[in-house]
Amino acid sequence: MIDPAWISHPDEVDDLIGEWAAAYPGLLRAEHKMQFAGRPVWALSVTDNSIPDEGKRKAMVFKPHAHEPAPIAAQMNVISQLLTGQTIDGHPSEFDNQRVLRECLLVFMPDANPEGTARAPVEAWDGSEYTNDEFWAWMRGIDPETGKMWKRVDLWDDTIEDPLPTRYGIVYEQISEHEYVEPNRHHASTLFRWIFEMMDRHADWHAMLSLHQTEFETCDDTCMIILPCLYDDLPEDIKREAMAWAKDVVAGWGEVEGAHPRQEIAPLNYGGEQRQYFVERWGDIYPRVPIITSEIQNNNAKTPPALQQRLNEVAIRATIDRLLG
Ligand SMILES: [Zn+2]
Repeated sequence: MIDPAWISHPDEVDDLIGEWAAAYPGLLRAEHKMQFAGRPVWALSVTDNSIPDEGKRKAMVFKPHAHEPAPIAAQMNVISQLLTGQTIDGHPSEFDNQRVLRECLLVFMPDANPEGTARAPVEAWDGSEYTNDEFWAWMRGIDPETGKMWKRVDLWDDTIEDPLPTRYGIVYEQISEHEYVEPNRHHASTLFRWIFEMMDRHADWHAMLSLHQTEFETCDDTCMIILPCLYDDLPEDIKREAMAWAKDVVAGWGEVEGAHPRQEIAPLNYGGEQRQYFVERWGDIYPRVPIITSEIQNNNAKTPPALQQRLNEVAIRATIDRLLG
């Protein structure tokens, strides 16, 4: 049973954004790039447009992966509070939305791959219908030889791969007739096209929050913050801000009933090819703006959808609070 405050299906997201854009033209600039498969990838700039952007504190919040829907629901609920002063289900805003609108420019990209999200068999992964093996086969596709999940690559071409997955994974965004990318691992993704456009539009970004979900199969943690893989080599001011911000998020999670946040805050520990994707695709961005990655448990009864959404909202709230100082 999905919570009434949960909006994640692209059709519902598009409808609500349309309503907001019509009702709040002074607060919301709703822009989209059409992805190859024909769905809009939104970049929602939320701020009081009557105040110049120059002095505002700026953050980008985005959600790369289609099998991780809670960050969509969380962003929509935060945007609702910013624009309307109420949550999607009609509760008063938990923060001073007028002050945020005056002092901050927030760009939300609630869903980097809506075509993938729309192909998911569920709107939220609660662990009741799919094992993690089945879930992962939805994520990356079904390997015809093993019946389990297909491989993880930055880009693949279905005229070259052999054998092809028997069902294409929803994590991959189709970018041309035959090419597919993982959105946060290839610059041809709509996500990266938006990130670069926004970085060109404004030079002074204070934060980038990358919202994710993972399964936490081998530990009791249900949420964690990950720092960039190149963290140790970043400028001191970027490192200091990223770590302080990460601690704020973890502290916020600690106040949520049912959450078990990992206390250790560490750089991404991937090796090999997966690390190399991040070095190549993010290496020029990491030194310019503090970036943290939030991971909330997915597909597990310990973290039901409403809690998944809540924990994502807490991460966004902590980010906004840091901008306000
Ligand atoms: Zn992810």
